Amino acid sequence: HNHIDHATPEKVQAAIAAGETHARIPDYETFDAYKAEGGYKVLADLRQDGDWEAVQDKVLSAGLRGLGGAGFPSGKKWGFVRANPGPRYLAVNGDEGEPGTFKDRYYLERTPHLFLEGMLIAAWAVEAETCFIYMRDEYPAVLEILRREIAALEEAGIVTPGYIDLRRGAGAYICGEESAMIESIEGKRGIPRHRPPFVAQVGVFDRPTLVHNVETLKWVARILREGPEVLNSVEKNGRKGLRSYSVSGRVNKPGVHLLPAGSTITDIIEAAGGMLDGHSFKAYQPGGPSSGLLPASLNDVPLDFDTLQPHGSFIGSAAVVVLSDQDSARDAALNMLRFFEDESCGQCTPCRAGCEKAVKLMQAGRWDQGLLEELSQTMVDASICGLGQAAPNPIRLTIKHFPDEV
Ligand code: SF4
Repeated sequence: HNHIDHATPEKVQAAIAAGETHARIPDYETFDAYKAEGGYKVLADLRQDGDWEAVQDKVLSAGLRGLGGAGFPSGKKWGFVRANPGPRYLAVNGDEGEPGTFKDRYYLERTPHLFLEGMLIAAWAVEAETCFIYMRDEYPAVLEILRREIAALEEAGIVTPGYIDLRRGAGAYICGEESAMIESIEGKRGIPRHRPPFVAQVGVFDRPTLVHNVETLKWVARILREGPEVLNSVEKNGRKGLRSYSVSGRVNKPGVHLLPAGSTITDIIEAAGGMLDGHSFKAYQPGGPSSGLLPASLNDVPLDFDTLQPHGSFIGSAAVVVLSDQDSARDAALNMLRFFEDESCGQCTPCRAGCEKAVKLMQAGRWDQGLLEELSQTMVDASICGLGQAAPNPIRLTIKHFPDEV
């Protein structure tokens, strides 16, 4: 889906004629516009006489958790990073490679400075010497916007030249895994590291590193500007906060829908304008292919961190894909495993050979469920990183919920 709202053909032609870019740059909030509305005042005040622990308290009381998928409490992470001696770094994970996820792009193409100010606040909190932004190259408009706006920050004296180091990813899904991203930032092949040590201790160039997702940092800026209530005052189904669901599939209004964190799939389909005509709701992917497929009957579960564990799934980056009676759960699961087979970094055998073998078994007329389960368990137990550990989820959940298809 094209989320560039205002890029009229005339504007694109003008940009190309001016030699500005090959990308279609949407209208977004520039540095001047953001500053005129009070932007960067919080940062300036903090840099003058801020108390980092007070900022940490605000972030903790807002209940902010990592929105790249892991859901780790952000304020706690700051404490871990600060506990290690400097120099420290901040690395932003803008790889957004999880199929069905496009919320970071959505926000960066509209309000890049909310993200940039949030990043600089977090960098101030952990006294980071450099901020690396690892941005996927498949987002040319975002890269161009960031180049322009980082230059504006340098010109305004808010950061020194080079303080923000914008890096382009090269299309590897695994580089969204934080330690693989760090390897890639260091100029090496992007493969996940063994842990411990954790990146909060040994990160970019072996220095303590705070890694955050783009959207998480956007919320840091909003929490500091508007107070923790911006998140913690929203409550639904016993869950607090807001989630940016990237919704696609058989719905009328696919796109990013910002909803209470306690929303169920029923709420999300409703927010997305209901099912397409002629389609009835059959199944959904709650958070990227690693979260597998859940049946329509599980329509009363809040789609939040922790709530899907009892169902063998998780919310991840909240990439919701809605399937209908015209879709095959079996084909969807096979598609997910083909993706993992393609994207496995190949470092460890259970994942490299396991994904390949799973695809072969899933292409057979009938699935050998015993063998697939044995293979799944081996991958969960013995893979180095989350890709191989979670790749069996689509297999297991499809066998459990759609036995007639396999
Ligand atoms: Fe690479 Fe897969 Fe092993 Fe992760 S689990 S390190 S992606 S081979």
